[in-house]
Amino acid sequence: MVNGRLKIATIGGGSSYTPELVEGFLKRLHELPVGELWLVDVEEGLHKQEIVTGLAERMAARAGADIRIVSTLDRRAALKDADFVTTQFRVGFLDAREKDERMPWDHIDSGVTKSFLWREKEKSDREETTKDCSQGCNGCGLQRWKGVCALANDRGV
Ligand code: SF4
Repeated sequence: MVNGRLKIATIGGGSSYTPELVEGFLKRLHELPVGELWLVDVEEGLHKQEIVTGLAERMAARAGADIRIVSTLDRRAALKDADFVTTQFRVGFLDAREKDERMPWDHIDSGVTKSFLWREKEKSDREETTKDCSQGCNGCGLQRWKGVCALANDRGV
């Protein structure tokens, strides 16, 4: 509590979800009297957090809310005496999201495996090509389905 009002610490403060969180706090100030909102992120997220902090400050000012918004990398300071802690971080950053998210081929089995597609994407990023299947099976996954890939079947892959 800070002067009888709540201190909130948000881990992952640089998230683009923070403005929605702030909007929620502003709408409910009468039942959740927030006095301080501490946004915490890692070094890599600091630039984004500073942008989000500026936006949050403008949102609070526009709503006429007296909320102190703090942007910091210091988790201990943010968590000290916090009444509530919210989290919204993404382990591995956006690169991990790209790998974790469910894609159409996760729901429809075309035969070609996700791991093969991912390897192909990484090779493409490195500007590497994949040899033609006539030179040898690349293990795309179709070899699992008898009769679908004539090349793999002919070779007994
Ligand atoms: S030979 Fe067939 S199973 Fe092997 S990579 Fe090519 S298409 Fe896929």
